[in-house]
Amino acid sequence: MLQIHCPWCGPRAELEFTCGGEGGIARPLDTASLSDAQWGDYVFMRKNPKGVHHEQWRHSSGCGRWFNALRDTVNYRIHATWRIGEPMPVAEGHAGAAARSAA
Ligand SMILES: [Zn+2]
Repeated sequence: MLQIHCPWCGPRAELEFTCGGEGGIARPLDTASLSDAQWGDYVFMRKNPKGVHHEQWRHSSGCGRWFNALRDTVNYRIHATWRIGEPMPVAEGHAGAAARSAA
């Protein structure tokens, strides 16, 4: 069974967690100015990469808190977890925050 490291509780069994999909998606500030296509992109369009993916997870059967994770979609390995609001750590196979700010 996979062990997931909750940033508050430490390592726990994966059965205690729920995946909330892609992480790091900020809600647009001025939603009234968005076109239907832009709003649709924000609400529905998500990446589906083969490899390391930034996701949000919830320790639903533990502390109940949300956190970020870098998970490899090929082998299910979780490279890093960190609290919401903290910077993304640099993890193996993923450039982390440096790649996001350069994009
Ligand atoms: Zn927890």
